[in-house]
Amino acid sequence: MAKPQRISLAEVARRTGAMLRRGDSAHFDPAAGLPPTLSDLTESLFFSPGDGRIWLNDQRMLLWHSSAMGHLRRELVDALGLERARGLLTRAGYVSGARDATLVRERWPQGDAAAVFMAGTRLHALEGMVKVTPLAFDFDIDRGFYEGEFLWEHSSEDDEHIAAYGIGTDAACWSQVGYACGYVTTLFGQLVIFREVECRAMGASSCRVIGRHAAAWGDVSEDMRYLQARDFRSLAEDLAAEPAPAPARMVAAAAASAQPADAPADRHEIVGASSAFNAACHQLDRVARTQATVLFTGESGVGKEAFARRLHRISRRAERPFVAVNCAAIPDTLIEAELFGVERGAFTGASNSRPGRFERADGGTLFLDEIATLSPVSQGKLLRALQEGEIERIGGTRTLTVDVRVVAATNVDLQAEVHAGRFREDLFFRLNVYPMHLPPLRERRDDIPLLMNHFLRRESARHGRSPSGFTPRAVRALLHYAFPGNIRELQNLIERGVISADDGAPIDVRHLFRREQLSDETLLAIGAGGALMPSPDTAGVSNLLQHLQQALGAETLELTALEDRLLREAVEAAGGNLSAAARRLGLTRAQLAYRLENRAPPAQR
Ligand SMILES: [Zn+2]
Repeated sequence: MAKPQRISLAEVARRTGAMLRRGDSAHFDPAAGLPPTLSDLTESLFFSPGDGRIWLNDQRMLLWHSSAMGHLRRELVDALGLERARGLLTRAGYVSGARDATLVRERWPQGDAAAVFMAGTRLHALEGMVKVTPLAFDFDIDRGFYEGEFLWEHSSEDDEHIAAYGIGTDAACWSQVGYACGYVTTLFGQLVIFREVECRAMGASSCRVIGRHAAAWGDVSEDMRYLQARDFRSLAEDLAAEPAPAPARMVAAAAASAQPADAPADRHEIVGASSAFNAACHQLDRVARTQATVLFTGESGVGKEAFARRLHRISRRAERPFVAVNCAAIPDTLIEAELFGVERGAFTGASNSRPGRFERADGGTLFLDEIATLSPVSQGKLLRALQEGEIERIGGTRTLTVDVRVVAATNVDLQAEVHAGRFREDLFFRLNVYPMHLPPLRERRDDIPLLMNHFLRRESARHGRSPSGFTPRAVRALLHYAFPGNIRELQNLIERGVISADDGAPIDVRHLFRREQLSDETLLAIGAGGALMPSPDTAGVSNLLQHLQQALGAETLELTALEDRLLREAVEAAGGNLSAAARRLGLTRAQLAYRLENRAPPAQR
C-alpha cells in the first residue's frame, strides 16, 4: 500500500501563498458571491487572437476541438495500451488541476476557503471539461480531513470515449479525475485521491466522483498507478536531486512545475519555460562542460550576463572566480590597465602594482560584455591572451601565464564591425568559437508570466514591500506589451510597480507604465480606455485646469489651497523627508520649508 505523504503546513503556506484551513458545503452559499466567483474566473480568461494566444490569468490555454482530443486519446490507447494511455491522461489532468490551484491561490490569496476550493469545480466547467455539482464536501486541514462527493455531467471525455468504444464496464473520465486530484492536492498540500464510482461510460446517466485523503481510502496503490511520475520526465527531472517515494515526488513535482520561479532570490537567476528559452539552456549546458570560448549575442536586456554566470556555475571552473567587465563602461585609456593590470611606476599615479581582471579570473571565467567597444590596441592584447594564455601588466616586463575561459557578449553585429574595419577579424574568429544567440523577450512570450512572478517576489523582498499581486488588466497589459528593452525592462517595470502600489493591494497598469508607453491598441486590448491613467495631454494649461476641476469636482480652484495640498501630499509621499519632497516639486529644501512655515492657517481662507 502506498504510504500517504504529508507536507507541513508551512510548506502548504509557501506553495499556496496563504492558509486554507477548513470549509464545507453546508456553509458554502454560492449566492453569497464570495470571490472568486464564476464571473471573476471568466474575467481571467483573455483572448489575444492578434498574437495567437489565449490566457487564463497568466496561464496559456488552448481552445481545441473535443473531437481532436478524442482522436488523440484513441491513438494513445491504440499505441500504448489502455493502462498507459490512462496513466498519461490522468497525469496530464493532474498538471492542469495543479496549475489551476496555483493560479487561484495566487490571484485570490485572501479568498474564502470554500470559495477557493469551489473555484476548481468552476474552472473545470469554464474550461469545457465537465459540469460539476457538489453533493457534499467537508475539509479541515488541521485535522488532515477531506471528503467530497460530486456529480459530473456532460463529461467531454465520456462523449469521446463512448463515441469510440461504446458503453463498457469501466469509468472513463481519466484526465478529469487527474484534474480533481491535482487541484485539491495542490491546494491542501496533502494527497487527495478521487475515484469515479459511477460513469456514463458504464451506462450511468451522469458520473459520480468521491474524493478522500489517501490515508482515508486505505489502499490507493491502484489509483497511484496512474499518478506515478515514473515516465513523467519533464516533471521528474526537477526533482532528480531529491529522491523520494513516488507519491511525494509526484506531488512535489507538480508543485515545482506550477511554481518553477520559486528559487532563491539570486539577482542573476535565469527563469523561463518557453521552447526558445529551453533551447538556449540546452545549448548552454552542452558548451559549459567544455573549455570553449563562448560569444553571446542578442539585444540589450536579454540576460547575457545572467547566462554567462550560469555557464560559469555549471562549468568545471565553478569553484574559481567569475569576473565580469563591461568594456563600454570603462574609459578607453583605462581598459588595458583594468584587463591586464599595472606595474608600479608604469604611468603617473601608478604608485602600486595591481593585478588586472585576467589575473583575478585565473582558473575561472572572464566575462567581457560589450566587446565591440574595445580599442584596436586592447583587441590586439586580448587576442594574444586568448592565443597564448599569456598577459603582461602595463609597464611590466614579466610574462604571466593565466588560465582563463573568456566569455564575451555583444549587442551589435560583430561581423559587420569586422567588415567596417572596427573589429579585428582574427579576434572575431577567436571569440566566435561557440556563438549563442539569446532570443528577445517578444520571442519567448510564454515566459512573461514566470518572469512576472519571479520579479514580483524578488523586488518585493528587496524593497520590503508586499503588493498582493497584479490586477487582471495589469497582467493583460504585460502580456500584450512589446518589451523593446527585454527582460531588463520587464524587471524595471515590476520594480516600479512594487514601489508604487500599496502594500496588500494589487499592482495595476498605472503603477507599471506611463501612459505614453502604451499604444492605443494595447489599451484597447486590455479593455482600458483613457480613464485608466492620466493622459500626458494634461500638460496643456487649459486641459490641466479642466482635469483638476473634474478630478476635484470643483467649479473653481483655489490656488493657495491647491498649493497647500500639493505641498502636504509631497511631504507625506516622501515620508516626511523634506529634501525628497522638495526635489519632486522642483524646489530647494529651504524654499519648501519656507512655504510650509508660511502657509495661511485654514481659518483665514
Ligand atoms: Zn465519467
